[in-house]
Amino acid sequence: YLSLKMVFVEVIEELYPLAEAKSIDLGFSLDNDAKLNANPVRLKTLIHNLIDNAIRYTPTGGKIDLSIIETERSIEISIKDTGPGIASAEIEKVFEPFYRVLGSNEQGSGLGLAIVASIVAQMHASIHLTASDPLTHCGLCITVRFTQK
Ligand code: ATP
Ligand code: MG
Repeated sequence: YLSLKMVFVEVIEELYPLAEAKSIDLGFSLDNDAKLNANPVRLKTLIHNLIDNAIRYTPTGGKIDLSIIETERSIEISIKDTGPGIASAEIEKVFEPFYRVLGSNEQGSGLGLAIVASIVAQMHASIHLTASDPLTHCGLCITVRFTQK
């Protein structure tokens, strides 16, 4: 069993320079006890690709909130950023390999979320993206729910 918090910490250590260079404020609420029976490389790749996107697509001075919440039935992770979000019409498409939303200044291959989707499927988890919401100041809100057997 892997500690989800430890995986988050490893990923944040790797990506911290990128966030710091953009003065992005990182907020955490990471459950200490949440553990998953998972392939370590896949779990780390899943979390890495999501946090990497949050940092890349959030403009300088933005904020990213990371959370791990364990309930009786599931473990839910969420990554919320204050970037431009993804329009609801694009939300289905971003999981397709090589799909990138037009107008993004960032470089990328368009594979990160396709890989995320395949790992989520392998782990029998589910992923939910919420489109931009000016009211909650949430650019993109992503939640992944793991239901352990
Ligand atoms: P890479 O393969 O290097 O990850 P990528 O970031 O372009 O390339 P994905 O991670 O699959 O590819 O993301 C697909 C597209 O979804 C991105 O090009 C971007 O337009 C949009 N996107 C992903 N995450 C966010 C985010 N947090 N905020 C806004 N747009 C996003
Ligand atoms: Mg990406």
